[in-house]
Amino acid sequence: MATKPGDPTLLFLREVGSRNAFEETVAQLVRAIRFGIVTPGSKFPAERELSERLNVSRTTVREAIRSLEEFGYVETRRGRFGGTFLVHPEGAAPEADRAKREALQPELGEAVTFREALEPGVARLAARLATGEDVSRLEALCDGAESASAEAYIRLNSQFHLALAEITDSDTLVKAVAEVEVKVMDALLVVPRMEGSVEHSHEQHRAIVAAVAARDADGARAAMEEHLGGTAMILREILG
Ligand SMILES: [Zn+2]
Repeated sequence: MATKPGDPTLLFLREVGSRNAFEETVAQLVRAIRFGIVTPGSKFPAERELSERLNVSRTTVREAIRSLEEFGYVETRRGRFGGTFLVHPEGAAPEADRAKREALQPELGEAVTFREALEPGVARLAARLATGEDVSRLEALCDGAESASAEAYIRLNSQFHLALAEITDSDTLVKAVAEVEVKVMDALLVVPRMEGSVEHSHEQHRAIVAAVAARDADGARAAMEEHLGGTAMILREILG
C-alpha cells in the first residue's frame, strides 16, 4: 500500500540543503527514528517519496537505507507487503558498543564543534605553506586510505588531518588537531562503517589535496568545511 501524502515521517523530513547529501539523508532518517516519528514495526515511506521530499536522488536514498540496515535500525522485506520497516529504534549495536557510545557522548559533541572551528583554518594555512613534498605525502595518505580495511581507514583518515596540521609547522595546531582527531576516531570506531560515507570522504580528501596543491587557500578551507560537516552530521545523529 502506498504511503499517504500526510505520512508524519515525510512531514518531519526537510529538503537536504548541503552538498553532503548522503550524510544528511542518513542523519535526517536517524533523527526521525530517534524522535519516535517512525515507530517500531512501522513502514518507511517509499524510496520515491523520500527522494522527492528530501530532494536527493533515489540512489542516495537507497544508500542511506542500506546504511540504516547495517546499523540494525531497519529491515527491508520484499514482496507485495514489502518495504522498509523500523525494527530497532536504537540500532542493533552490541551492548558494549552502545555503552561506549554513551560514554563518548558528552565530550564528542564538543569535540566535533571544536574540529569544525579548527581544521578549516588548518587547511587554509596548509594551502599557503605546503611544499611539493607535503602534497606528495597527502596524496600517499589518500592512496593508502582508499585501499585500507575499515579500521585502518579510520586511522588513516585521522593521519591525513594530522598531516595537514604538520604542514603549518605549529606545534600548538598539531597538538590540537591530534587531540580532536583521537576523540573523533574513538567515536567512528563504534559507528558501523558506511560505504557511501567512506567513498564520499575519499573524494573530499582528494578535493582538499587538489586545493592545497593549487595553493588555493579559500578552496582548501571550503573543502575542509564541507568534509567536516558531513562527519559532524552523522556523529551528532548517531551518537547524539
Ligand atoms: Zn577526513
